[in-house]
Amino acid sequence: MIDLHTHTTVSDGTDSPAELVAAAAAAGVTTLALTDHDTTGGWASAAEAALRHGVDLVRGVEVSCSHHGVSVHLLGYLVDPTHEELAAELSLAREGRHGRLQRMVDLLAADGVPITIEDVRAQLGVDATPGRPHIADALVANGVVRDRDEAFATFLAGGSPYYVPHYAPDPVRAVELVVAAGGVAVMAHPFAGRRGRTVDDDVIAAMAAAGMTGLEVDHRDHDPAERAHGLGLARELGLVVTGSSDYHGTGKLNRLAENTTVPEALEALEAAATSDTRVVRA
Ligand code: AMP
Ligand code: ZN
Ligand code: FE
Ligand code: FE
Repeated sequence: MIDLHTHTTVSDGTDSPAELVAAAAAAGVTTLALTDHDTTGGWASAAEAALRHGVDLVRGVEVSCSHHGVSVHLLGYLVDPTHEELAAELSLAREGRHGRLQRMVDLLAADGVPITIEDVRAQLGVDATPGRPHIADALVANGVVRDRDEAFATFLAGGSPYYVPHYAPDPVRAVELVVAAGGVAVMAHPFAGRRGRTVDDDVIAAMAAAGMTGLEVDHRDHDPAERAHGLGLARELGLVVTGSSDYHGTGKLNRLAENTTVPEALEALEAAATSDTRVVRA
């Protein structure tokens, strides 16, 4: 089974990269992609674990993008992590996320919600990309809410007065950067409207025109109608169709391999990569 979208403690997942790989092996995943938000920091330990557990590893990153304020996530597989422009953009995004974390905590605290920046930092892995889930975890630890879902519903969703955006590139620029870094661009959960607004199909077409290779159609946050629409759009735009779990450990209900990618699609993605970053074969 091929699962091409997962997170670890290097961003907002709850398994370390090594634990993720072990869990993937136990779940019957044969090819796994590691795609933490805006960082490649988990690659080395995941690769080492992949060799140990007999799992093939696609090293990737989920790039946070914003199209006129609408959040878009772009999966960048097999990029050269040392590509200067891409690395600079990712580090800008991570820095922006630290400032944004502070501002959201300030807004919550000013309203009497018991939370400090230290509480949130305590939930963050070493050098991890900070995100709203870490604020959620601090709210859980402080007994304010029961779980991440309740934290998002009550305090952290896009329309909330405590929501603060962070710096993120336009998705077309992100596609160009991933391609320039020798990688393969696949748009993550394009129609996941439950988390907030989504972009129109013309933006997806512009991303395809900029060199995007694939569309993540099979994802928990897509209903059957959205999957059918995604299949049609992928065919129209000549995009490879992928499916994945978007596993976050205990941070979300998503289970490894709950959605998967067919081997032919993985081959097409791999063939589109031009960097020296290859699939780690166990
Ligand atoms: P951020 O990128 O910091 O704005 O946070 C967005 C991330 O929060 C997404 O990538 C998801 O991993 C996570 N997320 C969004 N909604 C929820 C939810 N209801 N429960 C748990 N995690 C969520
Ligand atoms: Zn996440
Ligand atoms: Fe995402
Ligand atoms: Fe994700």
